[in-house]
Amino acid sequence: MKRIALFPGSFDPFTKGHEDIVLRGLRLFDEVVIGIGNNATKKRYFPLDVMKQLIEKTFERERNVRTITYDDLTAHTARELGATFLLRGLRNTTDFEYENGISQVNRYVYAEIETVFLITSPPLAPISSSIIRDLHRYGQSVDDFLPYSLSELNKLNRDD
Ligand code: ADP
Repeated sequence: MKRIALFPGSFDPFTKGHEDIVLRGLRLFDEVVIGIGNNATKKRYFPLDVMKQLIEKTFERERNVRTITYDDLTAHTARELGATFLLRGLRNTTDFEYENGISQVNRYVYAEIETVFLITSPPLAPISSSIIRDLHRYGQSVDDFLPYSLSELNKLNRDD
């Protein structure tokens, strides 16, 4: 049976920290599906469809990575995909407290799902999407933290 992992998140934006989790996940699983959660109650900073395109561009050479958006419970989405693993990154104890609860609930909803946590590579640990949003909002370049260039974002917006 193919070992499929769903890597769920807001990815607002997708960072080098997220990229590292995907690439390391590929050594453990046959396929990694990046799932951008479309939570209607949370307003995004970077538009969903644009972020999906930037992530797809980042992994265009990886045959075993694909990107989806979803508007459902993560556990339901994993079941529909035939994914029996959830992939998550752990940066610190705050992440752990949060992830601990979520992973129990996900197993309550879908008993076959197993969450696999990868400890963040040290140089990437300080990177968080919320800090990047703050820097970007006030005009600071954030390209060093992203696996793609935000000039791509401007190109994509122009093509709309
Ligand atoms: P969520 O809104 O679900 O927390 P995020 O997009 O913020 O989603 O993060 C998705 C996953 O990536 C989470 O498991 C988070 O802990 C992990 N993550 C976030 N930043 C990093 C990083 N710098 N290094 C490794 N993992 C990270």
